[in-house]
Amino acid sequence: MPGLRISPAASSACNVAGRAVANRADRRPLELPLAVTAQPPNRLSDAVLDERLRGTRFVSITPQRVLNSPASTGMDYWSLNPYVGCEFGCSYCYARYTHRYVVERAHDAGKLTDAEFADYRGEHGWEAFERRIFVKEQIVGALAADLKHVPLGETIVIGTATDPYQPAERRFRITRAVLQHLTRCEGLSFGIITKSPLITRDAELLVKLQQRNEVQVHISLITADARLARTLEARSPIPAARLRALRKLIDAGVNAGLIVAPVLPGITDDLPHLDALFAAAKAAGARFIHAGALRLYAAVRDRFMPLIAEHFPDLVARYERAYARQAGAPREYARALARRVQRLQKKHGFAKNDGMMDRYRPSRVPTQGELELRGSLP
Ligand code: SF4
Repeated sequence: MPGLRISPAASSACNVAGRAVANRADRRPLELPLAVTAQPPNRLSDAVLDERLRGTRFVSITPQRVLNSPASTGMDYWSLNPYVGCEFGCSYCYARYTHRYVVERAHDAGKLTDAEFADYRGEHGWEAFERRIFVKEQIVGALAADLKHVPLGETIVIGTATDPYQPAERRFRITRAVLQHLTRCEGLSFGIITKSPLITRDAELLVKLQQRNEVQVHISLITADARLARTLEARSPIPAARLRALRKLIDAGVNAGLIVAPVLPGITDDLPHLDALFAAAKAAGARFIHAGALRLYAAVRDRFMPLIAEHFPDLVARYERAYARQAGAPREYARALARRVQRLQKKHGFAKNDGMMDRYRPSRVPTQGELELRGSLP
């Protein structure tokens, strides 16, 4: 998921920054973390946890570290992703490169044969992201160690690269184990990004987490149009289910809102489209809403542009011109979109929220404006 701005906790009652708060008389017993097994398998093919009828395979990995530091990502928050790869398979997803990186490293380390490497990359290099899902088992031990390096008041975002509540979570419950562990902390700020109503399973945990920390749950939705969503996102939950999940979280007392990202130029950026989303967020009780334009990284182009060519052929030339020299949207377009979003935030009674500030903004941003917003600006 694209970068977002989450304000740090205003104050803290944490006795050890970012660490488990021990010996608290009022603390309820914590559920056991995932069991630690003796040795990770030498070969990824030995670590297959499950294989679905449609061919999706789930593979166990045991990373030494699970928190990505701001220095390693270039973002100003820590991030955590319980899975590598995502079954939702959104055409615009920029996280495919993370999957490719894991596969290439496993191949280099001799954990994948050449044939397996080809299978784990897929014919076009992007399919495996949706069909070969790496499950970070035994994550809690590594998380506990990593948390010792997180200073008080810092932000940790869960789900920056893959959805933490994708279908695999129903069975493997890695995200739930992470949340259970994080409820020991206080004085931190947490963001969670998901498209899945499965997050409502953990509403109680989220409420508990926000008793001592700042929590923002971002339900991700780029359109209220179910048919358009199905075209753009192969297997994501329908928009209505996501809005119902948002309502449930709000009713449970969780600080939750909507993230509209990416806004797709010429497809979902018109005023009626965005206005409908903001109205739906308001009706669901969202505490905040923010939006940001598409970034078209190389790993996205291979998957996304053929879909544009098939369903929106008139836009192909505009996209190619606008994103020819950079991954981010042209500056004039991004500014016009930001103005539109701010006016819609005001119209629907939301506070100004520029959570989608692009943290990868290059020092010199091209100024071409080929992607004018559709319709007149509000
Ligand atoms: S849900 Fe998020 S991580 Fe999963 S494919 Fe879609 S954009 Fe990527």
